[in-house]
Amino acid sequence: MLAAELALANIDVAIVERRESQDLAGSRAGGLHSRTIEVLDQRGIAERFLSQGQVMQVAGFAMIRLDISDFPVRHNYGLALTQNHIERLLAAWVEELKVPIYRKREVTSFVQDDTGVDVALSDGSLLRAQYLVGCDGGRSLVRKTAGIDFPGWDPSVSFLIAEVDMAEEPAWGMRVGEKGINGMAKLEDGKRVRVVLVEPHIARAEQPTMEDLRAALIAVYGKDFGVYNVTWLSRFSDMARQAASYRERRVLLAGDAAHVHAPTGGQGLNLGVQDAVNLGWKLAQVVRGRSPESLLDTYHVERHPIAARVLKLTLAQIALMRGDERSKALHENMSELLKMDEPRKHYGAMMSGLDIHYDLGSGHPLLGRRMPDLDLVTESGPRRLYTLLHGARPVVLNLGEPDTLDVTAWADRARWVNARYDGGWELPVLGTVAAPAAVLIRPDGYVAWVGQGTDEGLRDALTSWFGPPTGPMLG
Ligand SMILES: Cc1cc2nc3c(=O)[nH]c(=O)nc-3n(C[C@H](O)[C@H](O)[C@H](O)COP(=O)(O)OP(=O)(O)OC[C@H]3O[C@@H](n4cnc5c(N)ncnc54)[C@H](O)[C@@H]3O)c2cc1C
Repeated sequence: MLAAELALANIDVAIVERRESQDLAGSRAGGLHSRTIEVLDQRGIAERFLSQGQVMQVAGFAMIRLDISDFPVRHNYGLALTQNHIERLLAAWVEELKVPIYRKREVTSFVQDDTGVDVALSDGSLLRAQYLVGCDGGRSLVRKTAGIDFPGWDPSVSFLIAEVDMAEEPAWGMRVGEKGINGMAKLEDGKRVRVVLVEPHIARAEQPTMEDLRAALIAVYGKDFGVYNVTWLSRFSDMARQAASYRERRVLLAGDAAHVHAPTGGQGLNLGVQDAVNLGWKLAQVVRGRSPESLLDTYHVERHPIAARVLKLTLAQIALMRGDERSKALHENMSELLKMDEPRKHYGAMMSGLDIHYDLGSGHPLLGRRMPDLDLVTESGPRRLYTLLHGARPVVLNLGEPDTLDVTAWADRARWVNARYDGGWELPVLGTVAAPAAVLIRPDGYVAWVGQGTDEGLRDALTSWFGPPTGPMLG
């Protein structure tokens, strides 16, 4: 996702990937939340994903379903689509954008100086880059080499996840145990089994064995169901850790390299995609020399609290899903609470990423929040707002008197659109907000300035996010 964002900004970017292909053993993440679908929609690629998965209500808290179908958003649902498909579609997009991928090679070390980073690869070659972003997962070599701390919480429970055949009829469905929920579900072919098991003891080794799998099955179900043909066997835990800093000079972190936590609530991949969309345009501007390096610090400032919140939410969910009587009672209470409209909306927006609010100052409620995908009437006809963001460039949307805002000094960076919009202004959870006369929308779809009839503050907002004016305004 980050590579694509940089490529859209015409930055020379390359990916180094240890794996031979984008194929993934096992399915890992199960889908996308509403805000991630929006983010893909902002780049014109949402349909590729929607057409391959199943649109459904996927948001939940501790397995308590949160229906967001009454939310005032176009994608008032999530998407069930496994990670192998998500990775395949993203890789195809990156290929269309002609980003080179150096496959079957590992980053083994790097050294940074004042102007760039020398990156050593396992085949003995060296890459020189202005910036290096570690998108290299929870065990990130980039994070460790940069000396970035990874504080958090040790695991209280570990799980096995596997895709298998079983000689005996599986125990389909969920079984709540003392330390968490076990389950068996049919894989896409309708025959094979995806099994998730709480391990009898917390295990830390990266790669579990067949013996571990049998032992866990027997501990939960009293038998191993004649398990065979194990095509994926992996271990995860409720360990929750987050990089103390998302940036160390010319080295940045995104995705699991910056945060790890239990998969409960299905947040990890979604967080990573949105990290990338927050960082991409900022990094592009700094590489171009249009914005100072300090713009990169807003990436940490904005994204660190979002993942910190997710970490806490997963800790809470793991606690709620324990099978002891006290936890069960707490879960029952939480279920009751989440049936009520206000808590459901609050948690539904939180788990689907629709309530994200970056602190961009006080004022209109849209400031720092996602811009809704309005049905506009522009000078060239009807358009959905998100189509204006396909190029990953900022947009100044003037909904008032046409041509009253002067942004010619940023014309090389920002898109300027006059449009009419006659519908309502409703945001998830907040409800109806006052109609703005104009907005500055960042490439990641968040509102950086709201105009109420004058251009007060617009030049400052453009300068702080997109660099000082050029062209006619210079001098
Ligand atoms: C069982 C399970 C269920 C999950 N369910 C969900 C869900 O429903 N929803 C959700 O949003 N998330 C879910 N997740 C989390 C999701 O899988 C991760 O958050 C996501 O894969 C993180 O993406 P990433 O690109 O940051 O890291 P990774 O997917 O770990 O990718 C890192 C990549 O870097 C490569 N790499 C690593 N080191 C190097 C190196 N030194 N040199 C070169 N390449 C390197 C690796 O080969 C890998 O391809 C789940 C995870 C698990 C385990």
